[in-house]
Amino acid sequence: MYVADKTRYENMEYRKSGRSGLKLPLLSLGLWQNFGEYDPISNQREILRGAFDLGITHFDLANNYGGPAGAAETNFGRLFKEDFKSYRDELIISSKAGYHMWDGPYGDWGSRKSIIASCDQSLQRMGLDYVDIFYHHRPDPETPLEETAEALMQLVRQGKALYIGISNYNGADTQRMAEILRKKDAPFVIHQMRYNLFSRELLETDLAPVLAENGLGAITFSPLAQGLLTNRYLHGIPEDSRAHRKEIPFLSEEQIAPTLRKITQLQEVAEARGQTLAQMALAWNVRQPSVTSVLVGASRLSQLQESVKMKDNLVFAPEELATIETILAE
Ligand code: NDP
Repeated sequence: MYVADKTRYENMEYRKSGRSGLKLPLLSLGLWQNFGEYDPISNQREILRGAFDLGITHFDLANNYGGPAGAAETNFGRLFKEDFKSYRDELIISSKAGYHMWDGPYGDWGSRKSIIASCDQSLQRMGLDYVDIFYHHRPDPETPLEETAEALMQLVRQGKALYIGISNYNGADTQRMAEILRKKDAPFVIHQMRYNLFSRELLETDLAPVLAENGLGAITFSPLAQGLLTNRYLHGIPEDSRAHRKEIPFLSEEQIAPTLRKITQLQEVAEARGQTLAQMALAWNVRQPSVTSVLVGASRLSQLQESVKMKDNLVFAPEELATIETILAE
């Protein structure tokens, strides 16, 4: 039987999401990859237990995570039942709807029909009565924002979600969604977007002012650019890496090669700061005032154990930031 480490809250920092009362750990764990049907359940268990022992109280899922789609929620449900049931009130569990999940016109995007059905399916797969955060995963050009907002609010009224989030929305649509949800007194507290050293524009130029004005927090996904911003690919593509796995088509050799020069230079900056590149990339991420939490993935517990030590050096000297900007601009 799993008994959580008694010291788990001693070394983690918890930040409030915008102006809400919801606190998230500086580092959260995402189950997009490494929690599918082909990933050993023993490794999944070790990652989840170890994460919680590190004070990582937030696990992020979505209907389509796996693969195949749904598998991550099913696996999480099994491990939750076996290990975490008695810790339910210490956990923030999120899920999402919006990407393709089942065939036909209702298994995708943002209609009321799709969102309510998808959330019900997610709760069933995970064996939960409610999720802490439910997200609309991406904007739907064909459904009025009012309809999507009302569906999310209905989940809250029914007690199936405590908080509402959106993901991958631009600034203008986020502003409109905030206005619609405010009129409903909705607990809309968080936006989930990609943000890392190689992908910055959406948060820095478009979303940051909208988040600040509306009191929303940011939780940033792929902060390590799926593993690129680590020492993983400096000497080729390891067999046990995401880029090597054929069933995961999101990171390829073609994407890796052009970044290697920059990665090598960034690693030198990290070393001078007494950090690994992964730790520096995460610290660089949380320096943004709107960022509540960085949402990492991990294929093994040791990665999380390394990443969490980013906290040892979160401050950047102006010269370090300038050097990083020069490297990125090359
Ligand atoms: P990351 O950028 O954190 O990439 C994770 C990968 O980086 C790991 O699988 C591992 O690669 C490698 N890695 C992690 N830590 C280390 C380390 N310390 N040293 C070396 N390598 C390391 O994030 P993801 O792209 O996985 O996204 C994280 C989460 O964000 C997802 O699980 C999901 O919850 C969310 N997300 C949301 C999206 C949305 O549209 N809302 C889209 C994408 C993600 P390897 O497997 O090769 O070991």
